Amino acid sequence: MNYDQARWTHDANGESTADQYEPLLSEKNTEEVAVDSPLPDDLTRDSLELPDLSEPELARHYTRLSQMNYGIDSGPYPLGSCTMKYNPKFTEDVAALADAAVHPDRSDRSVQGTLALLDGLQDYLARIGGMDAVSLQPPAGAAGEYTGILVAKAFHEQNGEGEQRDEIIVPDSAHGTNFASAALAGYDVVELPSGDDGRVDLEALEAAASDRTALFMLTNPNTLGLFERDIGEIAGIVHDAGGLLYYDGANLNALLGQARPGDMGFDIMHYNVHKTFATPHGGGGPGAGPVGVTERLAEFLPAPRVRERDGGKEFELFDPENTVGKVHGFEGNWLVLVKTYAYIARLGDEGLRDASAKAVLNANYLASQIDYDIPFGPFHHEFVASAGDQDAADVAKRMLDYGVHPPTTKWPEIVPEALMTEPTEIEGKETLDQLADAFNSVASEDDETLESAPNRTTARRIDQTSAARNLRLSWHALEEEE
Ligand SMILES: *Cc1c(COP(=O)(O)O)cnc(C)c1O
Repeated sequence: MNYDQARWTHDANGESTADQYEPLLSEKNTEEVAVDSPLPDDLTRDSLELPDLSEPELARHYTRLSQMNYGIDSGPYPLGSCTMKYNPKFTEDVAALADAAVHPDRSDRSVQGTLALLDGLQDYLARIGGMDAVSLQPPAGAAGEYTGILVAKAFHEQNGEGEQRDEIIVPDSAHGTNFASAALAGYDVVELPSGDDGRVDLEALEAAASDRTALFMLTNPNTLGLFERDIGEIAGIVHDAGGLLYYDGANLNALLGQARPGDMGFDIMHYNVHKTFATPHGGGGPGAGPVGVTERLAEFLPAPRVRERDGGKEFELFDPENTVGKVHGFEGNWLVLVKTYAYIARLGDEGLRDASAKAVLNANYLASQIDYDIPFGPFHHEFVASAGDQDAADVAKRMLDYGVHPPTTKWPEIVPEALMTEPTEIEGKETLDQLADAFNSVASEDDETLESAPNRTTARRIDQTSAARNLRLSWHALEEEE
């Protein structure tokens, strides 16, 4: 098979199909290797078929596969809210150190360095968020939301209000996971319509908050990139009603070293470390979504947490007094947490503040260069443009032809044909100008051109739902089915 000629074609429905493909390594060349093992004979086989390839063949195989996709190492990736940014390679090196490979069932005494790092990260995150205590256990932002809701539920139950407080208020611009987490935890979700300026409507919140309110979930800046200026009043309304205020940390990269959710009156928050700090993000993880809380909620956090013993000479695991239990294995996704720690330690206070300032500057510069209308502002680290008469999904497909990844589309729904754009702090002016050129070229194109896009990618329009739901990890599997 000549894999240099890999081609993708379209069937009558416009779906792309591959008629040639990059073979699996085992399809290229294999060799029977004799197995010489110290294990008992009945547990081992005599020989094993393994790929037998030279280093260049191997390097080309993986390079080809990588070229069939688009990633942050290929070019800009302004996927709003998701914060897809370059992660420095030194954090990968740190996570790959032999000393980082610890067995999760070891004794506390034998892994004091591991516990010291986790304790240090709890402190870093608490300081950054203005929180008093942090659990590193939840494995993603959405899992952090669910954990935070369990903490709020335990708090209300302890006050004898567990049954009465059966509602969680969520703004209409919120991320879908907020609604899902609240529903999963058994709450009625009250959707709060945004005000005309794209922010929380105080009167609507006043009307929605009651003695049934368990929690109000909010991100700030919100998903339009707008800072909720009335956050003091918002916190007052929620607290006066006896509810708690939850901070969705997905946009924390706009605030690092500038402002802290804890100081704004938030009681509980999660950190999407794979968005704000370092950890490659995408393909479903692994990530981490630590949860921070104020003092009065610390006793409910997941178990175990880490703390100092003997005035900082030793570290130990402990279960908070009224813990909600475990939400993931052991202390969480350890190697992700190592990368987070390394990133924060390397950047320091000033570096983190600078990263946020640049994220905001880059979003504002890019916005100033593009022709699409941006209905709401002034914004921080991301903005939501409207594709107007064009279909935002077509705009996204067409941008691929210009060699850049498109923004998030069609969300939040308060902006018609939304193009939610977040360049992040990592891009320089040249790349931002390239992105603006792509936006502006697409803005001037006709529907026929947009609908036929993309033309220059390995795969053209795929059935996105099937691609997400019926995962086939090799063409081999597809062939066998057929
Ligand atoms: C990404 C995101 C989440 C969910 O976080 P995950 O880490 O992907 O589970 C929640 N809220 C907002 C606003 C987000 O952008």
